[in-house]
Amino acid sequence: MGAIKPPDPPAAPGKKKRGTKKGRRRAALDHDEPFRMCIVCRASKVPTELLRFARSVDGGLGFDVAARLPGRGAWVCTSKACLEKSTDPKHGGFARAFDAAVVFDGPALRVQVRALLNAEVLARLGLLRRQGDLILGRDDAARRQLNLAFVGLSVDLSENSLHEVKESLPGVETLPLPSMDVIGAALGVRPVGVVGVLKGHGVAGLKTAIARCIDVAGVWSVPTV
Ligand SMILES: [Zn+2]
Repeated sequence: MGAIKPPDPPAAPGKKKRGTKKGRRRAALDHDEPFRMCIVCRASKVPTELLRFARSVDGGLGFDVAARLPGRGAWVCTSKACLEKSTDPKHGGFARAFDAAVVFDGPALRVQVRALLNAEVLARLGLLRRQGDLILGRDDAARRQLNLAFVGLSVDLSENSLHEVKESLPGVETLPLPSMDVIGAALGVRPVGVVGVLKGHGVAGLKTAIARCIDVAGVWSVPTV
């Protein structure tokens, strides 16, 4: 089972296959990409629902958060169960996927996955902030609520604040975000627990990044409103 992805569809006669290898890698997190298979549960999924790992020439294994590193990749579901199994040295899935020996420290690799997924969310928040697409604080978010794609809520938001958000932003989708301190530090502002995300470019990418963090579990718990 060396192959980890379904075969490409046959190219049209006389035509080269769509895109270069590099181009396909660059588009690896787009939704129209072919399905990839998890090395643990063998489920075929779109790349956004999987974590890509790359092997360096010396056999080291690293999490490829943007799915852009060169060479063959091994894919694992964004689930705690598949991540834990794959990073158990007894599993052997990575060695089979790469058809070569791999060297890794399971717990350290899991920490790396969680840290990079978390950093991805913060980087996307920072980008939206610079574009003027984030509304910080409940009152300002409530004033713009018709333009909101969703509201991000810090995991350490108080019960009281959650209740106030429910009152002032009825029907608006909510998603979890890291702690107020972490968001404030990432955005260069005071700690903030309610972040309105305006509709537009960048929303889908941020939602995907948040979903990946939640799926891998242990990053943040999901606050309920
Ligand atoms: Zn899986």
